Order: sequence, then structure tokens, then C-alpha cells
Amino acid sequence: MVYDIIIIGAGPAGMTAAIYARRAAKSVLVLEALNYGGQILNTPDIENYPARAHISGYDFSTTLYEQAKELGAQFIFEKAVGIKDGNGKKTVVTAKNSYEAKAVILATGSANRKLGIIDEEKLLGKGVSYCATCDGNFYRQKVVAVVGGGNTAIEDALYLSNLAKKVYLIHRRDSFRGEETGVNRLIAKDNVEFIFNSNVTRLIYDKRLSAIEVTNKIDGSVKTLEINGLFVAVGRVPENQNFAELIKLNDAGYVQAGEDCHTSCAGIFAAGDNRTKALRQLVTAAADGAMAATEAVKYINNNCARPKNRKED
Ligand code: NAP
Repeated sequence: MVYDIIIIGAGPAGMTAAIYARRAAKSVLVLEALNYGGQILNTPDIENYPARAHISGYDFSTTLYEQAKELGAQFIFEKAVGIKDGNGKKTVVTAKNSYEAKAVILATGSANRKLGIIDEEKLLGKGVSYCATCDGNFYRQKVVAVVGGGNTAIEDALYLSNLAKKVYLIHRRDSFRGEETGVNRLIAKDNVEFIFNSNVTRLIYDKRLSAIEVTNKIDGSVKTLEINGLFVAVGRVPENQNFAELIKLNDAGYVQAGEDCHTSCAGIFAAGDNRTKALRQLVTAAADGAMAATEAVKYINNNCARPKNRKED
């Protein structure tokens, strides 16, 4: 069968796109490598989504998933590894199968950025983690460190401060990129210690991580912190490399697409954190999903051609 729209990625952008496409009566297949929800699944408490003062990432994602399914979107859990464009349709290739559609929405989001220090990946699950809400429970009454200065690091440090005996928050600068509200909550905690202008430069371990070496960027001094767990929260990298042959990416790997979500390839749209944009938030991911689906529907209804009056980005 040739679907109207294949959506790659079942995060907030992809699942919102599925809702809009189904409400426009288009057939929809959502392909997802792992679990529905994407990055927001790991957020314990979302406080900045309009009209929802508090909701967990899990509840938000599950409600969205059920909404998309109820509207008739089909979900298949396979990782898309490429797209081919030809004969008036797009073929999305996964490790096991290939699927055809008139239009594709890439809502692939992003993956955890690594610190890039020796043995970081080897110690994954042995003291190194990229997800405080997933692994925090293992560190009750233990000593942990969080690295990063964005909202994720701040939220992770707050979450862990309620479980762990002590939390170090290590940031490479002396001012945070994340929201002030969160920073102020951290300042009020007596078990959180800030370490500024510093990088983690060595992981010390036997079978598990037991300590880290932290180097101050200003004076070059090095100190060793005995910790049980290191939570890395240094941002995300877009997951677009599998599609780079077909669509233009910028130097940082984001899909070049404007607010109307059109990419350099007609009939392929990008929605959410994987595209060039000024603000990567839940609310902008959802907005992108709505926009990408609306543009995909217009493209299909225009006999799989870009509308002529479209303003190029
Ligand atoms: P981010 O905002 O990109 O912050 C990454 C942090 O890691 C920055 O402070 C950066 O330092 C630091 N960093 C980057 N590479 C590093 C390295 N190699 N070594 C040490 N430090 C490094 O990433 P994020 O916190 O994951 O957030 C991603 C997006 O999601 C943001 O737009 C954020 O606002 C959003 N988000 C929103 C919520 C929410 O609304 N509830 C929750 C989580 C995330 P510099 O500051 O020096 O660059």
C-alpha cells in the first residue's frame, strides 16, 4: 500500500502531525525506533505547556499516543534508516522492511550528546547515565554529579536532589543557559553544590564509576570528586544523518527548514527538534507537527507538487 503520509518519529512533533493528518482524512503510518514519547518521556514534571500546570512526560506522551491511535494513525516500531525519492512517491527503508508514501514528515528529534571522554560509553549503566528520571532511583542517599548548564541539567539536578545525599552540578561556564526559576530552586537546596567554569576530564573506576576528575578552565586546577553516579546533560544532537543524501542539513546536522517545515526535497517535511529553529520546546514541537502535517496535506492535495505561491524560506 502507498500511505498518504509516513511520519518518522513518535515524539510530540510526530504524534501531533499524526493527529492533524488523520483529521484531514489522510492515511498515516508512524515509524518509531524505540518508544513513543521521545525526549519528553524522561521529564518528570512538565510545567510550561499551555493550560497544563503539571503533567509528567510519561502521561503527556501516553495521552498523545492514545489520541493519535484513536484517530486511526498506524504505529510500527522499526528504525527508519533511509528514504528514496522516485516515481512520484517516497520509500522509507527500515532495517526490516520498506514502506511507501506520497509525503514524509521527519520528526526524528535528537539524541544525547556525549561528553566525549575516555570510557564514557563503557561505563553506561555502571555509573554513567544520560537520564536522571530513568536511573535516579539507583542513587538514593548516594553522591552524584550532573554535567551541563541547560534546562535538562537543572531539572536533573533538582530531581536528583530529592533522592541523593549530595548533588554536584558541574557547568563549563559561570552562568546558566536554563531557566532562572529552576536555578533559584537549586540554590535553595542545601545538598546541591555548584562547580562552575569546569569540565569533567577523567572518569575513575574499577568495576563501576567511583570518582571523577574535574578541571577548572580558569586556573587549570584539578580536583577529584568521589561520586557514585554521573548524569550527563550536555544537550542533544539531531538524528538526521540517515537522510542527508536527500535533504539539506546545516553544519550542525539540523534539517534546513523554515517555519512551514518544507525541506529542500519536495514532499519531505521536518518537524520538531531536528530542524533549524530558534526555540526547541514541547510547545514548538507540537506546533511544528501541526504545520508539517498541514503542509503535507496541501502537497498531496496539489497532486504531489509544492504549491506555486509558496514563499521559499
Ligand atoms: P542545551 O540547552 O543545549 O544545554 C546544553 C548545556 O550543556 C549547555 O549549558 C552547554 O554549555 C553544555 N555543554 C554542551 N556541550 C558540552 C560539553 N561537551 N561539555 C560540557 N558541557 C557542555 O540542552 P538541554 O538542557 O538538553 O535542553 C535542550 C532543549 O530542550 C533546550 O531548548 C531546553 O530549553 C529544552 N528543554 C526544556 C525543558 C522544559 O521546558 N521543561 C526541559 C528540558 C529541556 P554552554 O551553556 O556553555 O553552551
